[in-house]
Amino acid sequence: MEKNAKIYVAGHRGMVGGALVRRLQQASYQNIVTRTSKELDLRNKEAVDAFFAEEKPEYVFLAAAKVGGILANNTYRADFLLDNLQIQNNVIQASFDQDVKKLLFLGSSCIYPKMAPQPIKEEYLLTGPLEATNEPYALAKIAGLKLCEAFRDQHGSNYISAMPTNLYGPGDNYDLQNSHVLPALLRKFHEAKENNALEVEVWGTGTPRREFLHVDDLADACLHLMLHYNGKEPVNVGTGEDLTIRELVELVRDTVGYEGNIRFDTDKPDGTPRKLLDVSKLADAGWKYKISLPEGIREVYKEAFQSAPVA
Ligand code: GDP
Repeated sequence: MEKNAKIYVAGHRGMVGGALVRRLQQASYQNIVTRTSKELDLRNKEAVDAFFAEEKPEYVFLAAAKVGGILANNTYRADFLLDNLQIQNNVIQASFDQDVKKLLFLGSSCIYPKMAPQPIKEEYLLTGPLEATNEPYALAKIAGLKLCEAFRDQHGSNYISAMPTNLYGPGDNYDLQNSHVLPALLRKFHEAKENNALEVEVWGTGTPRREFLHVDDLADACLHLMLHYNGKEPVNVGTGEDLTIRELVELVRDTVGYEGNIRFDTDKPDGTPRKLLDVSKLADAGWKYKISLPEGIREVYKEAFQSAPVA
């Protein structure tokens, strides 16, 4: 990928796309193309075709998707399936039509079976039923990575897929209903501290285990894969380390400096019992994470709550 190659980052207003643009700029790529969803609705095939015909990008990072936490996924089930299928179908098809040299599709660790052995290897895909709460999103993402594989099989297209674990970082969604657990906890503990609240309510039992990766590390891994990986199989991107939600809660509480009680609301869903990726393939490709979880949480807390007001 030449430094002046035309690179389209789809979804640059999102947490992942934003981190990708920052990483590419930092690495001196000078010809990055972006469009906001207002300028280009990726669900609209005609609009996507016209954009690709005009811009003719050489490389594509497909980081545009409708995303959300456990509640959002479970509430807007039709939107999560349909919007994501439309976005990825349109971008992948247009990339083929305009002879894009290489495309990286971003999936998610929730594509793996709910009861997959842990840590999860890439080959466990489609070996069992999915977690019900995010099945529509997962099905769309599975279709996306299979479409990349199918283009490679049928046409020799160099389309690769990365499967990130749970992400956090700048530009995260802090909406209490629709966010993922880490930003939700940061906000809950921050507000509880500010208001001297006696108690913070946390969802589920606290026993599920999760892995978290800073989005700047993900962006770095994606650039690494774009430059060095040309395989058909998707590549897991994570730290290879997990912790319980209870441990995460205590880490966030201590980072924020909240001293009240924690109550686990067991009427709220736990989701998958454990989600830890096997990252040996990524290690073989020559990449490892750099930002530790305590360090990343400190940085994100500072950025989101201690400098400027939450957007
Ligand atoms: P998941 O990884 O797809 O299950 O998505 P989430 O990040 O939304 O949830 C991860 C785990 O954190 C689940 O077991 C949730 O029940 C738990 N959790 C605890 N408190 C919260 C919260 O305030 N918001 C969210 N989204 N999850 C929470």
